[in-house]
Amino acid sequence: MAHLYLHIPFCARRCAYCDFSIAVRRRIPAGQYVEAIRTELEMLGPAEPLETLYLGGGTPSRLPADAVTTLLQYVFNRTPSPYEVEVTLEANPEDVTPDNAAAWLRAGVNRVSLGTQSFDDRVLQWMHRVHDAARARDAVRTLRAAGFANVSLDLIFAVPAELERHWAHDLDEAVALAPEHLSLYGLTVEPRTPLARWIARGATAAPSDERYADEYLLAHERLSAAGYAFYEVSNAARDGRRSRHNSAYWTGRPYAGAGPAAHSFDGRVRRWNLSAWEAYHRAIIQGRSPVESEEVLSVEQQEMERVYLGLRTSDGLPLRGTHHRSPLLSALLGKGWLVEQGGRLRCTVEGWLRLDALVSALTGPAGTS
Ligand code: SF4
Repeated sequence: MAHLYLHIPFCARRCAYCDFSIAVRRRIPAGQYVEAIRTELEMLGPAEPLETLYLGGGTPSRLPADAVTTLLQYVFNRTPSPYEVEVTLEANPEDVTPDNAAAWLRAGVNRVSLGTQSFDDRVLQWMHRVHDAARARDAVRTLRAAGFANVSLDLIFAVPAELERHWAHDLDEAVALAPEHLSLYGLTVEPRTPLARWIARGATAAPSDERYADEYLLAHERLSAAGYAFYEVSNAARDGRRSRHNSAYWTGRPYAGAGPAAHSFDGRVRRWNLSAWEAYHRAIIQGRSPVESEEVLSVEQQEMERVYLGLRTSDGLPLRGTHHRSPLLSALLGKGWLVEQGGRLRCTVEGWLRLDALVSALTGPAGTS
């Protein structure tokens, strides 16, 4: 498969809202990790030349830079690629030093996705982030000085009102750093996170839907005015700077994943690995497959995915010739949540705010399919 994801689970601590599969470690077992990935990729057998490689986490930037180098050397020596491979590394600002940035670039990383989340120190503290706003700004400057021409910033919106976060100011700060790409995520309350516990005991309020909608719409307005185009419900980019790796997911292309909790998909079967680092590592050193489980997508599930993935992107969903225009579809078009252009159905910004409901409606008995 031409798209490879490597999950690097190590984090300095758990952020308040995070339910990802992570391993909080002061000392990173870098050698064991690299060896485990090497073994897993050998178990997967011969590889196609890569088009994209994504080091996600967790916090990949906590992996020592020499381990990143060893990992990438192994991946690229395994199957040389004739393509200009997009190699993304997720980094937290506190790990972006001149030495690390230079080493990542030398190792072949050409895109950094930086977990900035906010430029308000109170919000960052509330989120349990390690960095402050000054460190995030420094990180972007350090990446630029090292020679990175493709930098993405993550921001989280719709935080509780009591934080009095100035979202427009955060957007302006992000734009002032001139990233090529931005990913915006609405705060969600996942079970078993510190945030869920704070809300359960009344220490903070759950994010409001109204705030979510207001801030999402404001982000579209501000970022569009600054020259970014939303090409996916949560992602905006300058021309030619869409994430090629994530775009492969959204167009239903096959991908392989390695590392704890990594997912793989061959177009019909989705597999995922054991999520805890220790369980994953034990399986690998005992010569067992680290796959925890798999699901074979039924025809209905494949259709649901086709609709969901298509509507997430600005390219939209091809309307199939045999589909009749249902009264439901006409109603959704009439509300301005969807538009039909050139035989494709696309979400408007208002539609993206209601994406899950739209997908349920369109894949239900009264929908287009
Ligand atoms: S750094 Fe990222 S992966 Fe790690 S705890 Fe925070 S949000 Fe989760």
